Amino acid sequence: MTPVRFPIQRRVSLPVTIGPVTVGGLSPIVVQSMTNTDTADVEATVRQVADLARAGSELVRITVNHESAARAVPAIRELLDAQGCEVPLVGDFHFNGHRLLTDYPECAQALAKYRINPGNVGRGEKKDGQFATMVEMACRYDRPVRIGVNWGSLDPDLIVRLMDENARSEQPRDAEQIMREAMVESAVSSAERAVELGLPRDHILLSCKMSGVQDLISVYRMLAARCDFALHLGLTEAGMGSKGIVASTAALAVLLQEGIGDTIRVSLTPEPGEARAREVVVAQEILQTMGLRSFTPMVTACPGCGRTTSDTFQHLAHNIQTYLRDQMPVWRDQYPGVETMQVAVMGCVVNGPGESKHANIGISLPGSGERPSAPVYVDGEKVATLKGDGIAEQFKRMVDDYIEARYGDRSRLEEMDP
Ligand code: SF4
Repeated sequence: MTPVRFPIQRRVSLPVTIGPVTVGGLSPIVVQSMTNTDTADVEATVRQVADLARAGSELVRITVNHESAARAVPAIRELLDAQGCEVPLVGDFHFNGHRLLTDYPECAQALAKYRINPGNVGRGEKKDGQFATMVEMACRYDRPVRIGVNWGSLDPDLIVRLMDENARSEQPRDAEQIMREAMVESAVSSAERAVELGLPRDHILLSCKMSGVQDLISVYRMLAARCDFALHLGLTEAGMGSKGIVASTAALAVLLQEGIGDTIRVSLTPEPGEARAREVVVAQEILQTMGLRSFTPMVTACPGCGRTTSDTFQHLAHNIQTYLRDQMPVWRDQYPGVETMQVAVMGCVVNGPGESKHANIGISLPGSGERPSAPVYVDGEKVATLKGDGIAEQFKRMVDDYIEARYGDRSRLEEMDP
């Protein structure tokens, strides 16, 4: 993984090993995602897991909701391994997880982690036994578990108990506060129960997902204060498009800034036809823009204004940003450190040269109706002025040359054409 800067005081959590990935401790904050395919459809699931992994998802969760899904899991793992995709698979279990993990040992072995929702392991007398069975399977196969509480499926018995206790107290608190406490209590008490059943503490992660930003922040602050388990952050049911991105970022950024969170997921509802991997890109961008990790060269672009009345500037910024992200699967191994590179694509020379000088490489378009020339800056120095219709392609070649010189063989940097 990329060397990480920690400008933020991280909460110290127990590190958890999930296949080749470590979550918690002082490990980099891990990005994860979840498929939306029918797990029984092996081909579609393999394709989507591979897409998510290629986009940068370091853990991928798949739903294991019935027998045909459980039967498919070993084949999915095998096919991913055959194409060199080692991303750990996490099994998402509800209601019948105890039975599926018991009846399909090859599924239990193919998964690197199990997610247990304590609100969905069973009702009444069956609940404790079915939870214990899942934990026993995790112990048997030496797999970590995420105890993932979700406020949409919070244990009803626990809510009733806490509400009753609150009603009997001399100073009852509001129902919202009780709900938040119930989330934390469900996660922590379930984790302690798993420890009593024999699961090592460093095999446990916790999450308490809520769909309200302030609820999530409040619950995770409580959770972080009450335990040292590694924490998975995510705003559940974040929604579509900009609303989902903004809500997730607002919630996660506050917690990450306070050092809370060891792995994150952005639960976006994809727009029709939109790639599932969008949620991975958003999660990476949250971490990178906060200076917590670097994944891909970042493009600084101005918003444009009356000086950019044509769409040339937008096309160039989009073209360059897409190019940088698309190249990363190749560049990641070939050019270590390239993910920290800053590229500026600016609409005109008002702020363009200044931003370009701060970037590793930057370009300013001329602005509408101005002389069609675009100055390019490399490491703060103006090295060229691009002209004509092929500015984007010329600039991409200069980016390629810069990357080769800077991250491939530093000695050639000075040889770039001034
Ligand atoms: S850099 Fe130029 S085009 Fe971009 S917002 Fe500023 S003045 Fe407008």
